[in-house]
Amino acid sequence: MAEQNLMEKLVSLAKRRGFVFQSSEVYGGLGSVWDYGPLGVALKRNVKDRWWHAMVQAREDIEGLDAAILMHPRVWEASGHVAGFTDPLVDCRTCKARFRADKLADARCPQKPSKVPGEHAACDLTEPRLFNLMFKTFMGPVEEQAAVVYLRPETAQGIYVNYQNVLTASRQKIPFGIAQIGKAFRNEITPGNFIFRTREFEQMEMQFFVRPGTDMEWFEQWRALRMQWHHDLGLTPSKLRWHEHGPTELAHYAKAAYDIEYEFAFGWQEIEGVHNRTDFDLARHQEYSGRKLEYFEQATGERYLPYIVETSAGADRVTLTVLADAYREEEVEGEVRVVLGFHPAIAPIKAAVLPLTKKDGLPEVAEGLYAELRRRVPVFYDDGGAIGRRYRRQDEVGTPWCITIDHDTLTDRTVTIRERDAMTQVRVGIDQVAGWVAERLGRPA
Ligand code: ATP
Repeated sequence: MAEQNLMEKLVSLAKRRGFVFQSSEVYGGLGSVWDYGPLGVALKRNVKDRWWHAMVQAREDIEGLDAAILMHPRVWEASGHVAGFTDPLVDCRTCKARFRADKLADARCPQKPSKVPGEHAACDLTEPRLFNLMFKTFMGPVEEQAAVVYLRPETAQGIYVNYQNVLTASRQKIPFGIAQIGKAFRNEITPGNFIFRTREFEQMEMQFFVRPGTDMEWFEQWRALRMQWHHDLGLTPSKLRWHEHGPTELAHYAKAAYDIEYEFAFGWQEIEGVHNRTDFDLARHQEYSGRKLEYFEQATGERYLPYIVETSAGADRVTLTVLADAYREEEVEGEVRVVLGFHPAIAPIKAAVLPLTKKDGLPEVAEGLYAELRRRVPVFYDDGGAIGRRYRRQDEVGTPWCITIDHDTLTDRTVTIRERDAMTQVRVGIDQVAGWVAERLGRPA
């Protein structure tokens, strides 16, 4: 499979089978904004649930939060976003294409031939202009400077300004963390690659508050845990790697930063960042709000501003990673079979119930099993067409198990369970199916 082709295939499969649609498609679409269809919303929710389970539910030292998208405008002055959340924008004077100067590889102008026949000359670029990525809007009826509010460009700030509230309410002690999943907005100059870089997206962020001096130790711990999480999602380990931010890449707030990168068809790209943000954010909010944000450590009687280790992943980006990593085509009996080989815990549909025929009482038995299973896990019922075709339809959306009800079921009360990857089949008692599936799903997704 030509690698470049993979993204086109994914976009087309995603639309056809209801994972992701272009936003406002009937109006010709809105640039780099996407909607999740029935299977996509289930897949993305499973990714988020797994994150929440690992980061909040399974830990005693992390609390959850859901802060509002709109925040006091001073937050973004304190955080440095008003002054510094900019990307350098360059235009080509000839073809009018727009680029991010820091991501510019080798821009070729489609309108200017080069000296080499059949090739295009380099774009004629303007000087970079700094462009703020925050979406601005107005609160209340009057569109004036005093009423400006921003759509948050990251969820982290909602955590920082709530850190004392959470600390007091939860009676946690440092070290402890606050986790949040929510929308963020960035007016990206060059969005693209499907749901990789969009203007509206969801982040899964956790901020871990630690005693200064212990920050690098925690940073290393969180690095290890976060990489493990991606492995546990079922992603191919050889397609994951670390990228360390060099001195020129480090954000203004960071002491150390590493990205987890995945090897997409369009190259190695960041899917999550782990950052040591020091006490930068709390110090700034303390300064701008005038409110003391120090922590009082009872054991030592000391007061200090905690350091923060952040883990920041994009829910949409991880969902794209899961889709790209799961996609494969194989030849089976002379035909191409498309499979999304999801880890069962994140597969949108866990099992399909398939009566072999629509007669002889098979549908009644199948419907009974379907009703029983769908109370516990997402299942799909399909009685249309040849059984091989029905298997293929499930393979294509990554359903791990197909359960077929046939004539033997009527006499011996067993069904066939066919496994998606190896395509092996086993006979299981119809009363054991729910337990069989639950056992293989293990921990709730
Ligand atoms: P980039 O350099 O690619 O613009 P960034 O370094 O600014 O990204 P962070 O601010 O560290 O990204 O954001 C943390 C995570 O949020 C990223 O790893 C990514 O998964 C997600 N993310 C950031 N921007 C976008 C976007 N425009 N669309 C989708 N996800 C995004």
